[in-house]
Amino acid sequence: MFESILQRLGVEPVHSGVGFGTWVMRPGGGEIASLNPATGQPLAQVLTATREDYELVVEKASHAFQTWRTTPAPQRGEIVRQLGQALRECQHDLGLLITLETGKILSEGRGEVQEMIDICDFAVGLSRQLYGLTIASERPRHRMFEQWHPLGIVGVITAFNFPAAVWAWNAAIAAVCGDPVVWKPSCEAPLTAIAVQNICDRVAARHGLEGLFGLCTGEADPIGAAMVEDRRLPLISATGSCAMGRQVGPAVSRRLGRTLLELGGNNAAILTETANLDLALRAVLFSAVGTAGQRCTTMRRLIVHESIADEFIARLARAYASVPVGNPWEDGILMGPLINERAVQAMARALAAAQSQGGVVLFGGNRLDRPGWFVEPALVQIDPTAAIVAEETFAPILYVMTYKTLDEALALHNSVGQGLSSAIFTDRLTDAEAFLSPRGSDCGIANVNIGTSGAEIGGAFGGEKDTGGGREAGSDAWKAYMRRQTCTINGGAELPLAQGVRFDVS
Ligand code: NAD
Repeated sequence: MFESILQRLGVEPVHSGVGFGTWVMRPGGGEIASLNPATGQPLAQVLTATREDYELVVEKASHAFQTWRTTPAPQRGEIVRQLGQALRECQHDLGLLITLETGKILSEGRGEVQEMIDICDFAVGLSRQLYGLTIASERPRHRMFEQWHPLGIVGVITAFNFPAAVWAWNAAIAAVCGDPVVWKPSCEAPLTAIAVQNICDRVAARHGLEGLFGLCTGEADPIGAAMVEDRRLPLISATGSCAMGRQVGPAVSRRLGRTLLELGGNNAAILTETANLDLALRAVLFSAVGTAGQRCTTMRRLIVHESIADEFIARLARAYASVPVGNPWEDGILMGPLINERAVQAMARALAAAQSQGGVVLFGGNRLDRPGWFVEPALVQIDPTAAIVAEETFAPILYVMTYKTLDEALALHNSVGQGLSSAIFTDRLTDAEAFLSPRGSDCGIANVNIGTSGAEIGGAFGGEKDTGGGREAGSDAWKAYMRRQTCTINGGAELPLAQGVRFDVS
């Protein structure tokens, strides 16, 4: 039924997962199956990379860097503009492939491609705005300024749940900054990566840009490990669990490389007494149940004022019961499957732990009796001190807890290790301002009367604490992909020294 989509995107039933403009036809790593999580059936097989295959991709990227770094940035932007155009042309097919491979519903699959297009547009504009500062020099007739140069090859490691958009956040910005990209996708979603690589290859081939975009599919070991240790990759941008970041961060730091870490979240919303409950209900439902709870920004904790808790939780439970769960490509479905059997088991373990720690399941949590990895979304009332609440379980479990004072709510909000996304629902300005103040949310993203999920690309995206501190996408996130050079020019015939230091020979 879906073979024609794969064909149109140039994905063969057994496809190489290694390429840089052309495909390495027989990479020597093992073969992995990409499974449709809604059926458990394979969509296609992918041949993964060995270290030798990885070497080839990095060599091609190194070669591409030699010319790409001196290509004027607006010309680099033109290539990214063409990439955005190519993505527009296959938005439908690529969106459907994302749905088939990850289980997210079709409007989210297409939305992910829209996010790729948006970041390409952003990067095109940015290609004419890689501004440096001019700084007043303390020395007479001296001029001081900063300029930004390309950094080198950027290693991009991505998670399964945004199998294309996170690559695009990195690749579009890296490309206009003058950096080639070597991409290690998740082994749970390699077909999306192959389809994206095909799109890149078509654009790159028109301009003789072999090696600018490289793909190296493989497990954390050997391919992730090779990237992390590789001094030719000055920046590793890694998206995934906190556990992954705890391995990647120190390893890259040991070689004094740069990391951009986008790790797990444990995102909460506070509902104050004055919240617009109709609006909050829709926002909570999308943030907690959307993408089957498999977004880094998924709402996992709901901190409700005790005066509205009974009414709101009852309404939420009714809304949970009305969420259509099913094949994610079908109209009207709002929640698809989890990614694999491990995710179903992890959800079951978390719910058992919650119950053993005093939690009460108010709705859901059961596995559906059908092929694939379907579950009901779960709503759990629990004491905020229960240990399980501090963990990110990558599944649709929302822990609900109550509070009396805003100070108490803020303390609960900030009590977990992760610091990605956050929200407050309130119609009282002083509560909103407190949430956004330095004593408020400690997260990288803080929203008022909006859920925790669904960021736009124009802002810098990322989180604090165990989420890793990285920022990607918009605003000035591009600075991570370039090296800053401070330059001073002496336009006079004297040699005055800074800080008034004298060093004259008579
Ligand atoms: P994961 O940590 O299992 O894997 C992510 C990627 O890292 C994969 O490509 C994997 O092969 C690779 N990897 C794992 N260990 C590695 C190592 N030691 N060295 C090199 N590479 C390694 O995550 P996942 O299950 O694919 O995705 C879900 C997780 O990702 C969740 O925790 C979610 O919150 C997080 N996530 C975060 C963001 C963000 O922007 N903060 C976005 C998406 C997902």
